[in-house]
Amino acid sequence: MNVDTLPNYIGGHWVPSRTTSHVDVHNPARGVVIARTPMSTAAEVDAAVAAASTALHDWSETPPVTRARVMFRFRQALEDHFEELARQVTTEHGKTLDEARGSVRRGIECVEVACGAPSMLMGHGLENVAPGLDCQVMRQPVGVCGVIAPFNFPAMVPLWFLPFAVVCGNAVIVKPSEQVPLSLQRIVQLLEGCELPPGVVNLVHGGREVAEAMCDHPGIRAISFVGSTPAARGVYQRATAAGKRVQALGGAKNFIVVMPDADLDRAIPTIAESFYGCAGERCLAGSVLLPVGTAHAPARDRLIEAARALKVGDGLEPGVDMGPVISAAHKARVLEYVDAGVAEGASLALDGRGRSLPGEGFFVGPTVFDGVSPEMRIGREEIFGPVATVCPVRDLDEAFRIMEAHPNANATSIFTQSGRAAREFAHRATASMVGVNIGVAAPMAYFPFGGARDSFFGDLKVHGRDAFAFFTDQKVTMTRW
Ligand code: NAD
Repeated sequence: MNVDTLPNYIGGHWVPSRTTSHVDVHNPARGVVIARTPMSTAAEVDAAVAAASTALHDWSETPPVTRARVMFRFRQALEDHFEELARQVTTEHGKTLDEARGSVRRGIECVEVACGAPSMLMGHGLENVAPGLDCQVMRQPVGVCGVIAPFNFPAMVPLWFLPFAVVCGNAVIVKPSEQVPLSLQRIVQLLEGCELPPGVVNLVHGGREVAEAMCDHPGIRAISFVGSTPAARGVYQRATAAGKRVQALGGAKNFIVVMPDADLDRAIPTIAESFYGCAGERCLAGSVLLPVGTAHAPARDRLIEAARALKVGDGLEPGVDMGPVISAAHKARVLEYVDAGVAEGASLALDGRGRSLPGEGFFVGPTVFDGVSPEMRIGREEIFGPVATVCPVRDLDEAFRIMEAHPNANATSIFTQSGRAAREFAHRATASMVGVNIGVAAPMAYFPFGGARDSFFGDLKVHGRDAFAFFTDQKVTMTRW
């Protein structure tokens, strides 16, 4: 099939990459190639940094209220193309249309928060810090910023950063995942129509080489990264060594505790959604179920029942509950984890491999392992697919011991009717995003988003007030007349 090779967007122009290396973009529900991503080179990162550096001066001097007006227009453009964007997300990623709509909505909410920049960027000051001496703090743009995105949220994750970086007066170079470049490409096209000066936003397609060139480039002052833990750690080390400020969000292994007093009628649908929503390809997805004491058998049985009832298929079709995973390679990886679980002695309580699944797509059926221990690979490593692992525990203390021993600490949830257990859980949990009777504790755009330990490398988190802090520098002026 003849498919388009995507151009880069540099200095306000769509320009073909000079690379000879490309990656195929698939519709994972159909297994067909829908575009080709150029694996751009360091020279193309140089060109984007040059364009961004040229645009930076005028844009950083543009009044915040004028910059915010670009965001208001951007928000409207995203609303006007909401359904088209959601379909694009589903087509290149595979999640269901409703899930895609939810993710585009979350992205728009980031733009809405960015619209408040004139208030959010205000500084503060104090008269007479010494007799006749005044002190004032102003927020100024950081400079040229780099954004590197993962495959699992093609529209939302770039929008965690792009609106904030731009509205704070920075120029930006953004690199989508080579596996899902089309949604961001469309978003940048829409932004182009919002009276944003050329060069303020640049898009460079590619993979690791582009990301590393961004980390190393002396013209880039800040890097926002989202991806797997090894890549996040590497980006953090590399970019901080090059003197940049960095926020690097990594992988996850999220634990969901079910207490014996949990209301399973309410809990199970949201727990199943946590494990199987977006085919498990969410950094906030439940991964390990920790049923406490007598909760084990009923929680496991009802999770199996809910998983079995899910309709798997093309996310564009009505009534489909779960789409495919991203690629043939990722499907093979998930299936390898299923084999590993069996080999390590876990009980395969629901075998997603056994289900008859639609044609050529990269489908894995919802899977449940019981009798998992934290030492097993399936109990320890991020699978990033529709595989639930059930690890029964005696009490809440044992659940905490397991969670604290795990290097990732992104999100965690408890299901209980006890205020005391919920309070203790929220207080002691080491993960930074905690749910009480909610399976996916995703902070809204005006709150900070990000984990702890090996799930997050940096200081300032994503969106909310932290975004305005990350994308600005505080300048202190002392004045005596
Ligand atoms: P990935 O690490 O393979 O790739 C992420 C991005 O980094 C891509 O743009 C890729 O081109 C680039 N990249 C890949 N290897 C790199 C390297 N060694 N150095 C520099 N850049 C590199 O991740 P993915 O498979 O696209 O995304 C899934 C992962 O992202 C999962 O681990 C998931 O948990 C994580 N994730 C985390 C969050 C969060 O909020 N913590 C959110 C979404 C996804």
